[in-house]
Amino acid sequence: MEDSCKPNPIYRGQGFWLTLFRATDNKGLSGCPAYDDMIYTSSLGFSVVGDNGRHNNTEYLGMDAQQFLNNNEVVIDWSYRARHAAVVAGKQVIKTNYGQAASYNYMLGCSNGGRQALQSAQMFPDDFDGIISGSSTNDFNHHMDWSGRMYVLTGADSSDSKFLSYDDWVIVHDEVLAQCDEPLDGVADGIIEDSTICDFNATKLTCADGQTDGCLTYEQTSTVWNVFSQLYDQDGNLLYPRLAPGAELYASTNGVLHGVQGHVTDWFGDGFNNTSFDPSTLSQTEYTLADDDDELHGKVSSFNSDLSAFQAAGKKLIMYHGLMDPAVSAEASQRYYLNVARDMDLDHTGLDEFLRFFRISGMYHCTGGIGAWAFGQNINAQNGTGNVITDIMNWVENGEAPDTMTGTKFVNDDPTQGVQMERHHCRFPYRTTYSGSGDSTDADNWSCELINDWQECGVYNVPRLC
Ligand code: CA
Repeated sequence: MEDSCKPNPIYRGQGFWLTLFRATDNKGLSGCPAYDDMIYTSSLGFSVVGDNGRHNNTEYLGMDAQQFLNNNEVVIDWSYRARHAAVVAGKQVIKTNYGQAASYNYMLGCSNGGRQALQSAQMFPDDFDGIISGSSTNDFNHHMDWSGRMYVLTGADSSDSKFLSYDDWVIVHDEVLAQCDEPLDGVADGIIEDSTICDFNATKLTCADGQTDGCLTYEQTSTVWNVFSQLYDQDGNLLYPRLAPGAELYASTNGVLHGVQGHVTDWFGDGFNNTSFDPSTLSQTEYTLADDDDELHGKVSSFNSDLSAFQAAGKKLIMYHGLMDPAVSAEASQRYYLNVARDMDLDHTGLDEFLRFFRISGMYHCTGGIGAWAFGQNINAQNGTGNVITDIMNWVENGEAPDTMTGTKFVNDDPTQGVQMERHHCRFPYRTTYSGSGDSTDADNWSCELINDWQECGVYNVPRLC
């Protein structure tokens, strides 16, 4: 089996930056250390260690879980064990090479790496002083249930009457914006500033009598309703939030509305030793099995909302999530924050001491998007005005916590062409709010307004997040 990982890490520097396995986009089960992150953080002067989750890929950054099959030890290593072992080894290497321990230890991860970052805070609170968890696949089992369900809901292609083509999703997206862009945030820029308050009504999408253009069939409209509905178990308990309205168009080409999710098939196939798994039949049976096997899989759910040991140790955690994420619902990260607040009996001022969650309007999965998405979270985002790595260091080392995350959008995403817009993304439960006048691309014309009912997330709320 050919190993197509491409190791080219650079080790140097006096600090100790641990940037552990980061998978991007839909590559959630892949091996290979996150070399791009390692190169980026090395260039900032940190010493870096990564791990491959005990399995390299047969395709570089592929959704490759073949080595999970009949080998649960690999699943556990990928879930958390390889990470912790790499931290222990990395710290020892630093001590040996420099004659002293690293001053501070950090972790950077996004997507599955974001999940692993949360798992480190939950299971190994002593491993890092500061953690950056981006666009995480927290609540992993239910995330995979939800990802796989989308294929069941939408069908494979246009031969299925419930299927929506890209052009159909354009119709949906236009209607989502008509209802939730300017009407909710005051600026018609294609960016829904807070999509969690978008209570989208899909009924307007259905063709009227005699109408054939710019509308959907009744069955397609039902698909849209289903896509924007939460996932529940058989007893009516919420398993996973909806796809965030606004993310649907990109999701139709690069996300959960884009046919069979390879990592879902790999997970429920190889991860559960079921080589005959058929993604078109995914059901509550697999949802239940995944829950039952969470312990076996090394607590891969990573959804433990008790961070009291992490808090007591004085550690700091920054979470962020793009609200136009096509692959992982941004509402899942907000739900985790709410769960921590509820289960640790803390209000937002209490959480502010160790956990800050930033909602990035207009950002896709981990990187890119039509909004102000660059804030130093990866090598492609290093030219933005803000930098989340600097932010976590200032918080850990100087006690200066970030109130906002300044994102930059360059013209054509090319820094040499100048800044198109900037925004100071507020931390939850504050909402980034337009002043009502002035240039909306100027971050200073926006402010952070406290969402007074941020803890309300019951049955009658949309979205339901508890
Ligand atoms: Ca807007």
